[in-house]
Amino acid sequence: MSEPDAPPPVLEWRDVTRDFGEVRAVDAVSLAIAKGQYVALVGASGSGKSTLLKTVNRLIIPGEGEVLLAGEDVAGLPPAILRRRIGYVFQQIGLFPHMSVAENIGIGPRLSGERLGAERTRELLELVELDPAMAKRMPDALSGGQRQRVGVARALANDPELLLMDEPFGALDPITRDALGERVRALHDRLGLTSVMVTHDMAEALLLADRVVVMDAGRIVADEMPAALLAGEGGDIAQALVAVPRAQARQLAELSGRA
Ligand code: ADP
Ligand code: MG
Repeated sequence: MSEPDAPPPVLEWRDVTRDFGEVRAVDAVSLAIAKGQYVALVGASGSGKSTLLKTVNRLIIPGEGEVLLAGEDVAGLPPAILRRRIGYVFQQIGLFPHMSVAENIGIGPRLSGERLGAERTRELLELVELDPAMAKRMPDALSGGQRQRVGVARALANDPELLLMDEPFGALDPITRDALGERVRALHDRLGLTSVMVTHDMAEALLLADRVVVMDAGRIVADEMPAALLAGEGGDIAQALVAVPRAQARQLAELSGRA
């Protein structure tokens, strides 16, 4: 039993279902995420990860069930409030090409009628380890990794209580992806964030998250700590996903043993 005055989870899905025509993209999902957790939502393409994530900021409205942000039903929260309270990092980076880096980072506050000062812009760029001189650059003058750092800075501009990331590093080369993943995890710890990261990459989930939630055909089929998944828990679907990086590690170990 929970304490009567325990704070509600930062994020909670209660029996959320969403259909697209004949397809049940999310099927009766219930999941609660406590303050400070870094949760990876893992599953094959089409398993419903993005749909579930998008119900939080109401980019997608559930057919049934509810989504609670710190105990409040998001259905009753205006989009401007949701934008302010939730940082969102998109899969396709999604910077506005005709706006400078500084303007991109400040878009959230600007939509709320505020201006992001030069000092705060500098602070956010430093947070994601970008040279503050990049504030004036246009997105097409940045590498993919730098652009996604700007995407993370933008998501943090409003000091969100919840950070949602949909395949945030998926489009990056492996070295950039690892470096940015570690950076985001360090920021999560330092800023005391609560984070949900969608990924199809089980290795990334195991290495970065405190908790790994596995989806299959719209349902949650495992919800474990990385160590438990590595110890073989979580069921067949989770274990099939864990087998991929494990087999790669074994093959690499064999290769280097032969060298
Ligand atoms: P994932 O992010 O895990 O790859 P999605 O949440 O994007 O999965 O999709 C789950 C299922 O819902 C898939 O079968 C997908 O084709 C379907 N789907 C998602 N969005 C739409 C949409 N806007 N219209 C129709 N079908 C959709
Ligand atoms: Mg997706």
